[in-house]
Amino acid sequence: MPVYEYKCNKCKAEFTYLKLRVDDEPLCPACKSRDVTKKISSFSCSGGGFPGSGFGSGLGHGGGC
Ligand SMILES: [Zn+2]
Repeated sequence: MPVYEYKCNKCKAEFTYLKLRVDDEPLCPACKSRDVTKKISSFSCSGGGFPGSGFGSGLGHGGGC
């Protein structure tokens, strides 16, 4: 399940976000800013889609493991 950790660049709040769609844009729950940075968190199977590189269209059904 693609749960990502984010940190807000504006108010420095850290939050997790369940990304259901690739084009989903996380919002900071505290200040509603979109200026957030994704943190690489507990990605148990880092073989296929690694966030950031070549990852865009194919993901959406598990990531391949
Ligand atoms: Zn914020």
